[in-house]
Amino acid sequence: MFTKSLRSFSKFLLFVWLVIIFSFMSRPASGYIIHEPGWDGSGRHSASLSYYFGPLTLDLPDTTIKSTLSGALDVWGQIVDITFSEVYSPNLPSSIDFLFGTGDHGDPYPFPGNLLAHSYFPSPPNPEPLAGDVHFNDAFLWEVGDGLGGLAFDLEYVAIHEIGHSLGLDHSNVPDSVMWPVVSSDTVFSGLFQDDIDGILSLYASAYASAPIPEPSTMLLIGSGLFGLAAFRRKLKN
Ligand SMILES: [Zn+2]
Ligand SMILES: [Zn+2]
Repeated sequence: MFTKSLRSFSKFLLFVWLVIIFSFMSRPASGYIIHEPGWDGSGRHSASLSYYFGPLTLDLPDTTIKSTLSGALDVWGQIVDITFSEVYSPNLPSSIDFLFGTGDHGDPYPFPGNLLAHSYFPSPPNPEPLAGDVHFNDAFLWEVGDGLGGLAFDLEYVAIHEIGHSLGLDHSNVPDSVMWPVVSSDTVFSGLFQDDIDGILSLYASAYASAPIPEPSTMLLIGSGLFGLAAFRRKLKN
């Protein structure tokens, strides 16, 4: 899917990991972190993005995966003025390509066994066509909700977190936020936290013209790191 030429500029790619840890982490004081300028250029403007479904997991019906992922886009689209439209070709500019893969899945960052998903920050600062793309590790078992308990991870929650990165949000230091870099197999999505909302509103125009817009945070150009690993579960089948 991705050519070798991509590897030559992989050092410029800003991407993030979502890892599974079950250990307790202390609560720092500060909140959201953003990568500017994002898809809308400098300032807080509207944006228009497309999305594409690449290879999907067999854990769920395709229709369920697609509706869950498009619903995850809408969670952010209800807060800020970003429109998302499906396209049927990969590697387009200003397009979020979703895929499920294991190990070396075609980009410069093969999945290690303990990595649940990763995604790429916007262009700018990232180069196309990887900018914004969201990759899920299909070595894990995926579900929607928590019907399988500790055996599987909620695709909706993880997708909303990863799309947050695709739109320019880094990990937050607020443990209640969706952008907190910790998720367990029992976590399900119950709504964006105020810190998530404040973060995305610092990057883009509000979906509601009358809503207050907070001041932007300091520009950061480095991707966030791996927080750690205590335990993980592998997919039981295949
Ligand atoms: Zn993350
Ligand atoms: Zn990847």
